[in-house]
Amino acid sequence: MIHSPEPPRLPPRSLHDLGFAGIEGELRAAGVSAHHAKALWRALYHDGELGLTIRADFLPPLKRWLASSVGEGKAFFLDTPEVADESHSDDGLTHKFLLRLSDGHSIETVLMGYDGRHTACVSTQVGCAMGCVFCATGQMGFVRHLRPGEIIAQVLHVRRVMRATQPDKRLRNLVLMGMGEPLHNYDAVMQALDTLSSVRGLNIGPSKISISTVGVIPGILRMAAEARPYRLAVSLHGATEAERAALVPLSSKWNLTELIAACRQYGALTGRRIFFEWTLIAGHNDSLETATRLAELLRGIDAHINLIPLNPTSGFAGTPSAAGHAFQRVLRAAGFPCTFRQRRGIDVAAGCGQLQASAQGRSTPPSSSAGHGDRSSGVLKLA
Ligand code: SF4
Repeated sequence: MIHSPEPPRLPPRSLHDLGFAGIEGELRAAGVSAHHAKALWRALYHDGELGLTIRADFLPPLKRWLASSVGEGKAFFLDTPEVADESHSDDGLTHKFLLRLSDGHSIETVLMGYDGRHTACVSTQVGCAMGCVFCATGQMGFVRHLRPGEIIAQVLHVRRVMRATQPDKRLRNLVLMGMGEPLHNYDAVMQALDTLSSVRGLNIGPSKISISTVGVIPGILRMAAEARPYRLAVSLHGATEAERAALVPLSSKWNLTELIAACRQYGALTGRRIFFEWTLIAGHNDSLETATRLAELLRGIDAHINLIPLNPTSGFAGTPSAAGHAFQRVLRAAGFPCTFRQRRGIDVAAGCGQLQASAQGRSTPPSSSAGHGDRSSGVLKLA
């Protein structure tokens, strides 16, 4: 008797990588009514369930599918990164987590609780390819993109912590300002955000989700073309080609002129305000002349400018408050809403550009740790 060879086994996939339609499709393919997808989706995202097979409220067909398909050695798994380390800032408002992924790489996620608003700051890549010179992540280089499930799992983790420690509070805001360049990992990021903003799931309003980019123009234009309803934050850091090129190597691919033109196009297509992030670096981009040039550069754009003094990283220092406020006055006088952010979370190295250092010093593989220079914790205060 001739046996036909077993079909090759597909590598296991994360249930969190599948959108709602994906879960429906998997159930249907297994002969289970897609009707059960709603219960599973609610358990995954509304409840943040980690032990799916033991839920008493699932109907038998779904229980059977979960028992046969999800878990060790089966077709699907859940993204549940291990907490390798965590720390609080002295003021208790910043809570940073070092999360270890299934392949051993580590990423950092931060929960911020300023002014009664709770915001998760998540990573989108292990490392970053953009190489901004003042950024700890940039100095580590790029390791790999995160999958949608690995992005989602960070938010689920933060929400679990909040439910345990502050059950009366809700996680309403999300910023993609941790490690990595979100628009360099566009498809995974958008799939994750579709899930995170689903009203049947975590239900974080799209207007409370901020995507920060250091200037990946194709991603900016794609967001506009696809009418993505999230906030766009563009990190500039320089008001002339030379000033920006000295800090942001990506300028050699897409220069400042092209970036501003793309922002104008984004604004015209979407009618949305753009948030411009400006990391104030002492002696590099914080003069009043630079502020005047910046105002000129952004003239005609519906812009809100966020000024963030750089947190200490090797070789660079943040602008002192007085000089930062003078910079802000120039921009306000030119008619731009402009916010000067306080540096926060410095004592737990959860501020801008500090994330990598702490990850590297612990159990992270040497090539994998990361940090976000221009848009990590505490840099935005979302309305
Ligand atoms: S500042 Fe942001 S884009 Fe630049 S290297 Fe750091 S993580 Fe990447």
